[in-house]
Amino acid sequence: MANLSTRWLKKSPWVYHVGTGGCNNCDIEILDCLTPRFDVERFGIKLVVSPRHADVLLVSGPVTYHIKPRLQEVYKQVPKPCVVACIGACACSMGIFKDSYSVAGPVDRVIREIDPNAIFVYVPGCPPKPETMIMALVKALQKI
Ligand code: SF4
Repeated sequence: MANLSTRWLKKSPWVYHVGTGGCNNCDIEILDCLTPRFDVERFGIKLVVSPRHADVLLVSGPVTYHIKPRLQEVYKQVPKPCVVACIGACACSMGIFKDSYSVAGPVDRVIREIDPNAIFVYVPGCPPKPETMIMALVKALQKI
């Protein structure tokens, strides 16, 4: 754990959030992380408005055909190395939208089409709890 704390202090992960077609419950839990109860900004975790400033791409929802090219474009804009955090069952494995005609795939499959070496962390749950997302960001830092 001491090792994690040291890494934590070395770099503040700035995150950019993309919703790719889920039910928005995961998005609400992401916002929860920013509220005074969890207050992730005290750890240096900051939600940024441009992917060009991000270390971590938070993606929630299954990737619809509509959003697929936009997600790939956003990923290209994030400076490398970066980590893609798949937030929720839908982002990890398409979840309840698995058999939908409008879903292109889970997040990792869509990103790997343009970058086979992309780095992922998976945050299962429907939706995952804020504590789980914070733990995933710690894992993301270890991978960068
Ligand atoms: S994982 Fe659950 S909460 Fe999150 S977008 Fe999918 S259905 Fe909604």
